[in-house]
Amino acid sequence: MDVSLRYLEGIGPQKEKLFWKLGIRSIRGLLYYFPFKYQDRRRIAKIGSIGKEGYYAVRAEIISISSRTNFVTRKHIHEAVLQDSSGRIKAVWFNQPYLNNYLHKGDKLFIFGPVRFYRGSLRFIVPEFDKDYGESLSSGRIVPFYRLTKNVSQRMLRRIISLALEKYQSRIDDFLPFYLRKSVGLLSLPLALKMIHFPSDFSILERARERFIFEEFFLMQILVYQRKAMWRQPKPHHISANSKLIGELKARLSFNLTVSQEKALEDIVNDMVSIYPMRRLLQGEVGSGKTVVAFIAMALAALSSLQVAFMVPTEILAWQHFNNLKAFLSHLPIRVEILTSSSRHHSILARSRSGKIDILVGTHALLNEKLQFKHLGLVVIDEQHRFGVAQKVLLFRKAQRPDILIMSATPIPRSLALTIYGDLDISLIKELPPGRKIPQVLIFKEEERNKAYEIVQREVKKGRQAYMIYPLIEEDGLEQAVIFVYEKLKKAFSSFRLGLLHGKLKAEKKYKVLSDFQKGEIDILVSTSVVEVGIDVPQASVMVVEGVDKFGLSQLHQLRGRISRSIFQPFFIIIEPLNLREEGRKRLRIISKTADGFKIAEEDMKLRGPGDLFGNMQTGFLSPSFADPLKDIEYLRKARYYAYQIVKKDKALALSQHRFLRERIRSDLEKCLLWQAS
Ligand code: ADP
Ligand code: MG
Repeated sequence: MDVSLRYLEGIGPQKEKLFWKLGIRSIRGLLYYFPFKYQDRRRIAKIGSIGKEGYYAVRAEIISISSRTNFVTRKHIHEAVLQDSSGRIKAVWFNQPYLNNYLHKGDKLFIFGPVRFYRGSLRFIVPEFDKDYGESLSSGRIVPFYRLTKNVSQRMLRRIISLALEKYQSRIDDFLPFYLRKSVGLLSLPLALKMIHFPSDFSILERARERFIFEEFFLMQILVYQRKAMWRQPKPHHISANSKLIGELKARLSFNLTVSQEKALEDIVNDMVSIYPMRRLLQGEVGSGKTVVAFIAMALAALSSLQVAFMVPTEILAWQHFNNLKAFLSHLPIRVEILTSSSRHHSILARSRSGKIDILVGTHALLNEKLQFKHLGLVVIDEQHRFGVAQKVLLFRKAQRPDILIMSATPIPRSLALTIYGDLDISLIKELPPGRKIPQVLIFKEEERNKAYEIVQREVKKGRQAYMIYPLIEEDGLEQAVIFVYEKLKKAFSSFRLGLLHGKLKAEKKYKVLSDFQKGEIDILVSTSVVEVGIDVPQASVMVVEGVDKFGLSQLHQLRGRISRSIFQPFFIIIEPLNLREEGRKRLRIISKTADGFKIAEEDMKLRGPGDLFGNMQTGFLSPSFADPLKDIEYLRKARYYAYQIVKKDKALALSQHRFLRERIRSDLEKCLLWQAS
């Protein structure tokens, strides 16, 4: 099936290119180009038998057609008289002037739509029509509709697909083993393909859909388990259990770890002391305290004479972690250093290579190919959703089978976690530290901005701190705008100490501003969204966000996370832009209704589609097109179960009953080098 479209009659180089535009590059691509909707055209009515209102399909010829404009309503009306062997009926369309050139007397049409009483007689009111009158693929059956591109018509696609089915259907090997199909109750591949395009009824169409949903999940899960098996080989380094160290470090904290933090730490330590590499995702709500858990893991690795790489998405977050880590481990012989794009690279590269750095905190600068380690044993990535797959892999590859800890505050629904991160073990920090208050969300209109400012003043007078956030609009050079706003705000809040933070500041300056804010020497921090992730200033309890239409739901949730660390009642204040669109309003409604990151992630996915999350995987094959991990969770569970059974029994898919599966996966993998690379 992986053969060129040119094997089909009627497809030459030109047509082939047209199909490429639709992403169809092979016979398989064509057969897997599924309809997006269907229309039931099975029952063709005789015009003479239409006696009451309802939906009808007829085949008829245009006897006459005219158009006019109603002077009162200004409506443009097309009226046609249609005839078949049994009688005549009128059809009307409103405001579709292009019909002038499209429908003509003598045209034979397939007409489909509502028949209503109108001006005393029954007629078709704005019916759909199809010029493929006598064509068997387009009438008298459930008819498929495909997404088109210029110069490709429904009729052409139907014909080509039907041709391909005819020619290849009997030669298609089902890669799902028979026993599996039988126990899940799935249609065979040839039948499912036929029925997804040209269903004989709707119930078998549903079964065809089930088959494809299952197979998408299944292939993905096979890969996930194969990869998991691949990682399950002894690692070259050794980490010793060190409960004394862990006890000491916990004692240095001013709080007790929560139950989930303890559990996550236990999972991580178990992974690290095991002979196999750790591959763990640490998930937890914004502010749930993931950092301290990771810090302890890093200390454990460092004291086993291993190096640690800790990658974070922004420079200010790198500085924050670097300082906190140094302070936290100051009593231990552990050398912590930082590498960002503004560091002096040369000496750090040299020290890292010779093993003189134990923990290296850094931004994307860690991906520098010249950066090498002497004995890298642990890789930690914070805010992992901000990095692409390829970037993570680059870092992992600086060591042989390192322990890997990935942290994420974008909680994704469990079903999705299984698909995307199915090869990782997951620890979840469920609860927030005790005493946290849920921020009160206040939404003000532009003209009520003063009320928002009054709240800021009131709170800051009580000794609290505030953020004022402006979106970063790169094309407008918004750094300019935020600097401008900053000057205005300094006047509006003249009795307070203001600070300004944005991406274009020099590194030292950024760090200075942030540490002044942390020390309480700045009351109000005016900033772009550079503080969106990770920044931890517990005394800050007020945030004003402008330009919310520029922020997605998850981003807003992250921003709110900055002030959820306070023991005071936090206020999350949104200035609603003029003319906020419906989608923006929806986001605000969700943000004010819930503070639960999981719910927000789900809503976010509903608004934007899971594409964004899958996009992060950067592999064509693994982006499901058909299955929806939220809706089709039952199939995901089943697919995962069977994939696990198969890989457990036959990791290399060497058994003869898995031959076609092996071939299918290999051919998919060739299209997705990245996955292989990792
Ligand atoms: P996140 O999970 O979003 O990375 P952080 O690790 O930045 O969250 O932690 C948020 C804040 O909570 C920090 O100020 C941290 O010191 C504090 N914290 C972490 N764990 C606890 C705990 N068990 N009790 C009280 N405060 C905690
Ligand atoms: Mg964090």
